[in-house]
Amino acid sequence: MTDTFSAKQRSEIMRAVKSKANRSTELKLIELFKAHHIVGWRRNSSLVGRPDFVFPKLRVAIFADGCFWHGHLCRNLTPSQNAAYWQAKIQRNKVRDRAVTKELTQRGWRVVRLWECEIKRGKLQKLKVAGLL
Ligand SMILES: [Zn+2]
Repeated sequence: MTDTFSAKQRSEIMRAVKSKANRSTELKLIELFKAHHIVGWRRNSSLVGRPDFVFPKLRVAIFADGCFWHGHLCRNLTPSQNAAYWQAKIQRNKVRDRAVTKELTQRGWRVVRLWECEIKRGKLQKLKVAGLL
């Protein structure tokens, strides 16, 4: 099957899909914070790696990682077109994620990476480790 979109169009579509998915995952996480009476979070952090949420007093940084973009093995959604391109991109994201986690940890932040699928299922066990639950 041939792709009806050019590589550039496909790339733009995927970017739009990504940002929409990020928003819905972040909104779901905010709902969960409220349900669990978790307070003290901030958005739009300018910390390295731009964590989705930070708890400045506790020095906890939270990333809500999209399963596709960050290479979670729960899903296999690599588009059949340009599979090598997407796999390389996901691999770069994973390398960057590890570097960001390391950098923040060295600066005294506790980093929690929640997968999109965990957030959707309301699984927040990782927040216990960070002292938020
Ligand atoms: Zn997942």
